[in-house]
Amino acid sequence: MQAETIWMDGEHVPWSEARVHVLSHALHYGTAVLEGTRAYGTPEGSAVFRLDEHLERLFRSAKIIGLAIPYSPAQLRAATLETVAANGLTSCYIRHLVHRGYGELGIAARTCPTVVTVAAWEWGALLGEEGLRLMTSSWRRNDPAVVPTAAKATGPYLNSVIAKAEALDAGYDEAVLLNAAGYVSECTGANVFVVSDGTLSTPPSSAGALEGITQDTVEQLAADLGVPVRRRDLLRTDLYTADEMFVCGTAAGIVPVQSVDNRELGAAGPVTAKLTAAYEAAVHGRDERYRHWLTPVAAASRATR
Ligand code: PMP
Repeated sequence: MQAETIWMDGEHVPWSEARVHVLSHALHYGTAVLEGTRAYGTPEGSAVFRLDEHLERLFRSAKIIGLAIPYSPAQLRAATLETVAANGLTSCYIRHLVHRGYGELGIAARTCPTVVTVAAWEWGALLGEEGLRLMTSSWRRNDPAVVPTAAKATGPYLNSVIAKAEALDAGYDEAVLLNAAGYVSECTGANVFVVSDGTLSTPPSSAGALEGITQDTVEQLAADLGVPVRRRDLLRTDLYTADEMFVCGTAAGIVPVQSVDNRELGAAGPVTAKLTAAYEAAVHGRDERYRHWLTPVAAASRATR
């Protein structure tokens, strides 16, 4: 994981010099919000997929946890495109982080500066491309009554980190988490979908799941393919008996699920295969219907020249 420079509060800082102080508030209390976005190669060169939606979620997350971002969405949009262009990247992962920085260390920390960074580097599929073997975590998902699950904030990711470690230690690829009421929420960094009787279902955000941008993309692709899709609460056993299941996220893409708690679901089914093909066409600019989801990186380098 490396590229040449990281955008840090308006400067392109060399990768190895993009540092923060150990007494930064965010390091102690998880007071940061983040985004994971991807750029892909398209016939017109590198383009960022659904950049505006990712930036909108970043600003929503910051508002929820009370961080004021000292830039406009347009400035962060330009910073993102510049970061991809400055590093000469085509296909890459982009990480936005807005954190409460170094100042005072009390919980309130009203005088700490808000630091904004944008990094980009080449990164393959988060969960691989093979069928995943999931385990139901013994940890419950973050509860929206305890932490703001609608915000993509760093603190609550501890829940994902310990669930992921438990799943890997037990010999599985990934964890699926239930919420306090026992309904399926999501995986550690991806939303879940099941196909039953030709209908796609995915848990709602009220189950503690992040409002996934890939989840939304899949819903729109499914609608265009004529596959019925709904958001509804799913039981753990709905996963066991699904005809097909997949997880999806920006870093992961669409990845079929092979088994849940050792109940075999089989190989990727026809609905998963159709959606994966439609998703790949959309992100790589091969389907005109979804070109509005792509922001060309070249536009940025022209604008800043
Ligand atoms: N849930 C969690 C917990 C995640 O970390 C992610 C990745 N951001 C997702 C779902 C998928 O979201 P998106 O499709 O917007 O990347």
